[in-house]
Amino acid sequence: MSNWHQIDAIQVAQNLGTIDFYGLSQEEVNRRLAQFGVNELAERPGKTSWQILWEQFTATTVLVLIVAAVISGILGDYKDTIAILAIVVFNALLGFNQEYRAGMAFAALKKLAVPTVRVCRQGHWEQIIARKLVPGDLILLEAGDLVPADCRLLESINLRVQESAFTGESESVEKNSLPVEGADLALGDRHNMVYMGTVITSGRGRAVVTETGMNTELGKIAHAMQTVEQESTPLQRRLDQLGRKLAIASLGLVAIILVLGWLRGETINVLILTAVSLAVAVIPEGLPAVVTIALAIGSRRMLKRHALIRKLPAVETLGSVTTICSDKTGTLTQNRMTVVVLDVADQHIDLPANPQQPIPLQPALDLLLTAVTLCNNAMLSSRDAVDTANSFGDPTEIALLVAATHFGMQKAQREQEFPRIAELPFDSDRKCMTTIHESRNPDLWGLANYPYIAFTKGAFTILIELCHEVWVNGQIQLLDATWRERIETAHHQLAATGTRVLVVACRLLERLPETIAAAEIEQNLIFIGIVGMIDPIRPEARMAVQTCQQAGIRPVMITGDHPLTAKHIAEELGISNGQVLTGQQLNQLTLSELESRVESVSVYARVSPQQKLKIIEALQDRGHIVSMTGDGVNDAPALKKADIGVAMGITGTDVAKEAADMVLLDDNFATIVAAVEEGRVIYDNIRKFLKYSMTGNASSVWIMLLAPLLAMPLPLLPLQILWINLLADGLLALALSVEPAERNTMQRPPYRPNENIFGRGVGRDIIWVGLLMGVVFLLLGYKYWSTAQASWQTMVFVTLAFSRMSLALGMRSNLDSLFNIGLGSNKPILGAVALTFILQLAVVYIPWLRSLFQTQPLSTRDLVVSLAISTVGFWAIELEKWVIRRWNKNRRGQ
Ligand code: ATP
Repeated sequence: MSNWHQIDAIQVAQNLGTIDFYGLSQEEVNRRLAQFGVNELAERPGKTSWQILWEQFTATTVLVLIVAAVISGILGDYKDTIAILAIVVFNALLGFNQEYRAGMAFAALKKLAVPTVRVCRQGHWEQIIARKLVPGDLILLEAGDLVPADCRLLESINLRVQESAFTGESESVEKNSLPVEGADLALGDRHNMVYMGTVITSGRGRAVVTETGMNTELGKIAHAMQTVEQESTPLQRRLDQLGRKLAIASLGLVAIILVLGWLRGETINVLILTAVSLAVAVIPEGLPAVVTIALAIGSRRMLKRHALIRKLPAVETLGSVTTICSDKTGTLTQNRMTVVVLDVADQHIDLPANPQQPIPLQPALDLLLTAVTLCNNAMLSSRDAVDTANSFGDPTEIALLVAATHFGMQKAQREQEFPRIAELPFDSDRKCMTTIHESRNPDLWGLANYPYIAFTKGAFTILIELCHEVWVNGQIQLLDATWRERIETAHHQLAATGTRVLVVACRLLERLPETIAAAEIEQNLIFIGIVGMIDPIRPEARMAVQTCQQAGIRPVMITGDHPLTAKHIAEELGISNGQVLTGQQLNQLTLSELESRVESVSVYARVSPQQKLKIIEALQDRGHIVSMTGDGVNDAPALKKADIGVAMGITGTDVAKEAADMVLLDDNFATIVAAVEEGRVIYDNIRKFLKYSMTGNASSVWIMLLAPLLAMPLPLLPLQILWINLLADGLLALALSVEPAERNTMQRPPYRPNENIFGRGVGRDIIWVGLLMGVVFLLLGYKYWSTAQASWQTMVFVTLAFSRMSLALGMRSNLDSLFNIGLGSNKPILGAVALTFILQLAVVYIPWLRSLFQTQPLSTRDLVVSLAISTVGFWAIELEKWVIRRWNKNRRGQ
């Protein structure tokens, strides 16, 4: 363990070959990258390829097939045994390939979720991914960051770090940059070091990286951090159970067949063969693969729409979301703040959006602008302030700096007159921020008796209560009722038009207080003025709100902003019904009182992150599936508690991203709605697969069950059934999983999460369409059999195989006719149909396959008849959809 903590900060930087405020040169970075490698921990190995392969062979359904193969072998039918085993192996390889690829897709997602860090190289601050850090890099740390490597602090501003990963202590500890004595100090006692894997809970700091990757303390204990979790989803678990139930059901069927056949006096060989065929017919072999692939494809599609899935079950839960709770700033609005109004005690100035020339600075505004410039951590990229996109910092603060620049005020210059001594950083609980400065210009504003001045800016409702005096053109007056009324009116007028209002205040200090704490400093303030800024709503958010409403999802706005501002913006977006609940009112309600209001209130204002938890709880108690957005450290518990925690990709802290199920790469509300739509599509497609696969299987079962009633011999061999299942579940089904959204996807209510998978027509179709197809195909076979044509079994086999092609096409939509959605809207399925057709012809016309599958070549006429009859299921489905469409239309017309 190196002892960086004992050495003086400047010395540490020197030893690491770095220069403060310059950092490393690019060549040096490259050299160190080559020497130390990238800054990442060796991964905890996921499932190995062997494990994935083993799981393919040990699924219950596959075990039934293996038993079937063994039984065929015992009965002396080696050809069947080998063929069944070959198909099992082929199926397993297919499953392996899909699962492996899905795994790779998730690994790729994981790479996208890596945290970034602000680093100073060659004198420039830039944002890089944390993997690229090298020892000696200078970095900035602030509340919400995951510490990206082991570092020695060079500067700490109230920096607190939660180190429970090492110390087990969940309370955060304060850090500073002073050397600490003692060579073998425990990590927890090294107050000037921060370690990879810990979390900055508050404050800010500057540090130099001492160790990276596996050389860090975290690396040493080889505790790997997985950022994207790959766990099975509730639906996957339910489908697993379904697979097991079907295996048991197939055993039941086998028993019935055995008894019936035995009573009719069949030979034991025929009986067992039938039983095996049936068992094979019932099982939807492709189910697990289809679900995995649908989820993987789904998360890729979500990524294209800027939603990064971090936890797989989220893909599915998204389809069931009933309430989307969203922050306002940046998600519903653009987070492009512009100062439009400055209001000091005796003056009100409307600022033009883009003044072409500097506005003369009147003395009355000087203190206000100085305050917002100094109590500010943003950095403008250039002096002319036009390029806000490349500026650093909080958009609110950037806007304030830009406004000050319009008056010709420069931050660097003011900082020389008033160097910053301490800071109480902004947090969304206090809703304000304070900085303390030494005054080197006592002539200014008559500050001769006060060597220090504290500037505070923050939310109106909070700060106005802390102000007792008011600054009126160089004079300090008591903030009496008249002043209060005047200020309240000014604020009210602004907030009612959606303007975000900040109060700016100061406190004159004769000496520095012993402890710099909010409770000490942020009181008895002198009101300087208010600043009004606007943040335009995102145009796409309004559309997304409408989409939500049509989709039976309620959008709810939760903001730290003032109720009036919030209400105005909510109205603009179409969210509001006039009711607004504030954080304060929320605190006074018991959980059950809140439950009774939570369904009707769509706007919450002045809410702190803790209160988000209570809102989620009340909504969940009312049976809602809640998605909640958040960006700060304090939002993490709410993100965990929500059914779908959504973190902001741009403004969000690492901690929020870690806690979230999904990250919005563009911080946009519309992206949540897009992800919900994708979630619904995935759910739909899995159900479509289930319906398609089980309807087809049901038809095979009916053929096998009913044939003896017509005194016919076995129409299908186990191998033939298995072949059809392989074609159908392997090729056609996969193509179903990429089916695009239906036109009503966002016009119907969400799925209940524990809704029966066989609901909404799935079970009904499996029963009636399956039976219809089975009976029709059997009758076709009967016609050929009764006229003693040798090809009768082949007719049944081929027709059944062909039927899967048109069935898949018919089941592409639950609502629209194939002729409406068009053949071209899912091209992979056309390929799958063509391939199925060719492969099926191959087993009938290629001699060695013919002998393996025991088929007869069919005449062209028979082939055409088979193709025509095979579409019966397709027409049945189309007819059913037509009836439903008409019925819906009539109902709407009433
Ligand atoms: P939302 O909760 O909708 O994302 P918000 O920015 O209003 O947006 P918070 O970030 O919790 O929510 O801010 C709460 C209030 O704190 C704001 O309304 C504003 O008055 C004040 N505030 C925001 N940023 C700063 C800042 N940098 N310094 C001081 N006060 C701030």
